[in-house]
Amino acid sequence: MAEQTIFDKVLSGEIPSTSVYEDDAVYAFNDINPQAPVHVLVIPRTRFESVADLADASPDAIGAFMRGVALTARKLGLEEAGYRVVFNTGADAQQSVAYLHAHILAGRKLGWPPG
Ligand code: 5GP
Repeated sequence: MAEQTIFDKVLSGEIPSTSVYEDDAVYAFNDINPQAPVHVLVIPRTRFESVADLADASPDAIGAFMRGVALTARKLGLEEAGYRVVFNTGADAQQSVAYLHAHILAGRKLGWPPG
């Protein structure tokens, strides 16, 4: 079995987190080191290492995950003002946890391009 990541432990409850949304496919919780007034991480209940793994995933699984991202943003009331979804993928993007996660960033005007 693959080594447990921090987010496996968040999902199991071994590491405490503040839930903001959950359904059958995803779990969403506040980032421990927020980079914006709203900074939420959304993870699928079934682990993928990164977006790269989604090349081999079922469209149903990907759809349920992305729907969970959108529903999280809706529950947070972000649809009108807008928000950014970021998937750091691999070393150059500085992905630090090998468990697929979407960052939802919002609550201020976000700069572009990102660093
Ligand atoms: P990455 O750099 O892999 O795209 O993002 C990992 C994110 O996980 C970072 O924004 C970091 O602050 C967050 N993070 C790391 N450890 C924990 C933790 O134990 N709890 C929570 N809630 N967030 C974490």
